[in-house]
Amino acid sequence: MDFNLSEEQQMLRDMVRKIGENEFKPKAAEIDQKEEFPWQNKRILEENGLLGIQVPEEYGGAGAGMVSLAVVVEEVARVCASTSVILTTQALATDPLLIAGNHDQKMRWLKPMAEGSVLGACAITEPGAGSDVTGIRTVAAPKDNGYVLNGTKIFITDGGVSDIVTVLAFTDKSKGNKGMSMLVVPKDVPGFSVGKEEKKLGIRGSDTRELIFEECFVPEENIIGSPGDGFKILMKTFNYTRPAVGAQALGIAQGALDAVLDYVKGRMQFGKTIAEFQGVQWMLAEMALKIELARTMIYRVCGTIDNVPDLKDIPRLASMAKWFASDTAMQVTTDAVQLFGGYGYSREYPVERMMRDAKITQIYEGTNQVQRIIIANQMLR
Ligand SMILES: Cc1cc2nc3c(=O)[nH]c(=O)nc-3n(C[C@H](O)[C@H](O)[C@H](O)COP(=O)(O)OP(=O)(O)OC[C@H]3O[C@@H](n4cnc5c(N)ncnc54)[C@H](O)[C@@H]3O)c2cc1C
Repeated sequence: MDFNLSEEQQMLRDMVRKIGENEFKPKAAEIDQKEEFPWQNKRILEENGLLGIQVPEEYGGAGAGMVSLAVVVEEVARVCASTSVILTTQALATDPLLIAGNHDQKMRWLKPMAEGSVLGACAITEPGAGSDVTGIRTVAAPKDNGYVLNGTKIFITDGGVSDIVTVLAFTDKSKGNKGMSMLVVPKDVPGFSVGKEEKKLGIRGSDTRELIFEECFVPEENIIGSPGDGFKILMKTFNYTRPAVGAQALGIAQGALDAVLDYVKGRMQFGKTIAEFQGVQWMLAEMALKIELARTMIYRVCGTIDNVPDLKDIPRLASMAKWFASDTAMQVTTDAVQLFGGYGYSREYPVERMMRDAKITQIYEGTNQVQRIIIANQMLR
């Protein structure tokens, strides 16, 4: 098994690192402070073909696979987590179509999203249903060769800036999770409105919204797969998107370690740089160990998805990678603030932002408690 990046992947990493350092890093603090969606960064991602890196070329992407997506997300998150959310959310919105869409749906919706001209969002969570997806109340009732959609979704990333939303709803509640379907809902459908914007702890440059569907008519050709396939498609989607969130966490952790390494070599106390104290060196070594382990787990699952996409281990490996990488991000960023001392607590330095940005990776795409449930269930089956 080869954990090294191919020549193309190394070139991709170097290209994205350069863009990150030159374009995203200098603006990251301002984006966080203003809490504004970074449209200019979105355009840079689009111009460089980075919004559909894992989507086949036939459907507007780069056809570069999941390892490449992880590399891109890590490099962007290293310098600006809010900008990396554009990448992970686009993957969350496009993957249901990639997994189960027919050719027409892929040409109509997946292609413009993979090319980056159109942003997508994915709407699952509701006020009463987060970890337990089967608790959703949104209904798409069959009517006249289509469905009438009613319900409210919350916490939807990019909900206010996207043109297309993939929505999970019951088309037949009597069948439980086998009665759930995934529908493509364009923004201009009558009855679809965008509600309040969440004010958040971190990833403040990402747009997080309530979405309201009132008597929204959606034609039957907008159902992804067959009616009743929604839950299955969503679970498969998470197998692909959880490693991407893991890569986001990894990037945040690596960014914090980079900042700390610079700082400890310059900060003098007791007549020495603080890098010379063994207590500090041990903290740095532990941070580096966890980051390297997280990277290995993410490459392993992404490589498996690229090479053996139907392997039964993928849900377990995806959950483990997301869980471990996000816990690593939280620990490494907290330690980074500690090693900066009082300056770490100041907004003048980036590590407090990184610590706030890291927290969400333990919560979305299934909390880390939910990842434990998935891993245990797969082992005990
Ligand atoms: C910034 C942000 C962006 C988001 N983006 C999106 C998006 O784009 N699309 C979307 O659909 N959703 C999105 N979400 C929603 C996110 O996926 C949910 O918040 C998450 O899945 C948790 O659901 P919940 O908030 O309802 O918490 P709950 O499910 O109420 O969980 C509360 C606590 O209980 C724990 N818990 C729950 N069940 C169990 C159990 N069986 N065993 C042990 N512990 C348990 C959880 O781990 C958690 O600690 C976003 C959320 C945020 C904050």
